[in-house]
Amino acid sequence: MSKEKILVTSALPYVNGPIHLGHLSGAYLPADIFVRYKRLKGSDILYICGSDEHGVPITITADKEGVKPKVIIDRFHKINKDAFEKFGMSFDNYSRTSLPLHHETAKEFFLEFYNRGILNEKKSLQFYDEKAKMFLPDRYVEGTCPNCGNEEARSDECENCGALYDPSELKNPKSKITGETPLLKETSHWFFPLGKYQPKLEQYIDEMNKKYGWKENVLQYCRGWFKDGLRDRAVTRDLDWGVKVPVDNAEGKVLYVWFDAVLGYISATKELSQKRGDENLWKKYWQDPETKYVAFIGKDNVVFHCIVFPAMLMAWNEGENEKFVLPQNVPANEFLNFEGKKFSKSRNWGIDVIDFLKLFPADPLRYTLAANLPETRDTDFYWKEFQLRNNSELADILGNFINRTFTFVHKHFDGKVPARGKMDSIDNEMLNMISASPSKIGSYFERYKVKDGVFESMNLARACNKYFNDSEPWKTIKSDKERCGTTLYVCMQAIYTLAGIFNPVIPFSSEKIFKMLNAKPVGWNDFGNEKLKAGHQLNKSEIIFPKIEDDMIEEQTKKLNNDETVKEAPKDETITIDDFFKVQLKVAEVISAEKVEKSEKLMKLRVKLDKEERQVIAGISKHYAPEDLVNKRVIIVANLKPAKLMGLESQGMVLAVDDENGKVNLLSVDNSVKVGTRVK
Ligand SMILES: [Zn+2]
Repeated sequence: MSKEKILVTSALPYVNGPIHLGHLSGAYLPADIFVRYKRLKGSDILYICGSDEHGVPITITADKEGVKPKVIIDRFHKINKDAFEKFGMSFDNYSRTSLPLHHETAKEFFLEFYNRGILNEKKSLQFYDEKAKMFLPDRYVEGTCPNCGNEEARSDECENCGALYDPSELKNPKSKITGETPLLKETSHWFFPLGKYQPKLEQYIDEMNKKYGWKENVLQYCRGWFKDGLRDRAVTRDLDWGVKVPVDNAEGKVLYVWFDAVLGYISATKELSQKRGDENLWKKYWQDPETKYVAFIGKDNVVFHCIVFPAMLMAWNEGENEKFVLPQNVPANEFLNFEGKKFSKSRNWGIDVIDFLKLFPADPLRYTLAANLPETRDTDFYWKEFQLRNNSELADILGNFINRTFTFVHKHFDGKVPARGKMDSIDNEMLNMISASPSKIGSYFERYKVKDGVFESMNLARACNKYFNDSEPWKTIKSDKERCGTTLYVCMQAIYTLAGIFNPVIPFSSEKIFKMLNAKPVGWNDFGNEKLKAGHQLNKSEIIFPKIEDDMIEEQTKKLNNDETVKEAPKDETITIDDFFKVQLKVAEVISAEKVEKSEKLMKLRVKLDKEERQVIAGISKHYAPEDLVNKRVIIVANLKPAKLMGLESQGMVLAVDDENGKVNLLSVDNSVKVGTRVK
């Protein structure tokens, strides 16, 4: 079978500022995890990205600073490229749209459409600043809204009341460049007939969805656009920063940034061809119908990647030239917010990637973001959660298992993988779980369910710790060394597998673990096999995930602008059924219970839920004896963020009510209800 050929792109970040954590969660981290996974699967894959360097906001920033736009784009191109590198993004090429090669590519598309008569020329009235001798883009004009009187309304839209109007209706218009009153002057622009392509686009999306399963949120956005009806879109505008319109009588006009930016994927691949000295490399991906093209974006880009770009490629493909492939899937993510609010530079809310990586290594951030990706709805980044994910999951589960195994093998087996002796059922079960995990986790990544894949990976590490505990090697080393060796043999195979399956998510740590194992990753399908033979010499071990101390986190939360108090949900507010379903209430069985030392109230419960076990800390010690609780089926909030109580992690909350005397009553169901059943 020939290799699967894949082309992956991530939305080109706009270089008007540094990228923040929200960007990573949208178009970049999920794509990088997918790409790294596919490389390990042996796919023939290219991963393309670059800076989007045209458009009005860049010229506004440049004007403010009194510099040329080039200064702005050079600054942020470098900052963002460095940030991506430090974060471990594995692009094959990170290009930029200011390159001549990109300008040529964009012009070629424009001319193709222009020459074939696809574009419509339309005249319109636009504000013109006589002093600056230029047409003013919307954002350069301010005036009074004809609807609500807001004095900071844009030329054709009011952000205060949402009104849309014709620029001629705006009252007291002012040029933001000179402060003069601009005139309305006739100008002409070329429009792409997007509406004409609507039936073909609907058919395309329908077909791709049936074949490859598009995400529901993406389909909904598209349906919304189709329902409103697609309108012609201006391809050109009056501005001097951008790709010059390559026809006569187009002085002072450039291509609209939406038109040139998406073509940046193609020109970035062409640049890679040049770098690799293989002129036709880009065609082997873009113009081979066998190529699986996946475009990763955030939700704000859905219209450009599901509608505009495909329509442009359709228009191109209707001509006589070589045909381009269209996106096979566009797994757009929703937004990541920051501590309950939107990222905002002006309100000093959030943190840039480059600043973050000066404080903490990339892998804990990659893991935290991956475990909480906004795949189906917006999610939040919280500093506390970041600390908890690092300390309680990476360090206490994954790191701890690796560390205790290595320490044991170095101490008792001269740092060599022990021989596999007689296998008990516990060993076989562990090996079976290890061997099943790559395909299980891979199947999530194949379907862009990164979060589920990450969750399963950590679950394997959890099971490994449990296996280590249950096997009690610290006892068997004295009573039955062969038995102890078998346990550690299995643990070592598990570490190899963990290093492999975690590689796409935390590549830097994975590399360290492989180094400690004195082994190399072979390929995804091999990760579940017993790759480390008895007698294999291991290297020295190190702590992979140092803990993050409280003061480091407090320092960061203090920096936030806390003027606005954290919003609380208003009392008695009605919620939708969707809101209710965000809370996963599940039936769990109490396996063991013990009072927490030095605490009057707290009880430590071990509960069984579906296939996993959890530790839940509940304030019920005064009201229940531990023995009353074992085998009881209670209701827990299964997707509550873990919290620490008296230093103990609580992975969920037990539901209870107080009676009139203040006695706590646990909500419970009888044993005919299966463990893991969702309450609804
Ligand atoms: Zn208004």
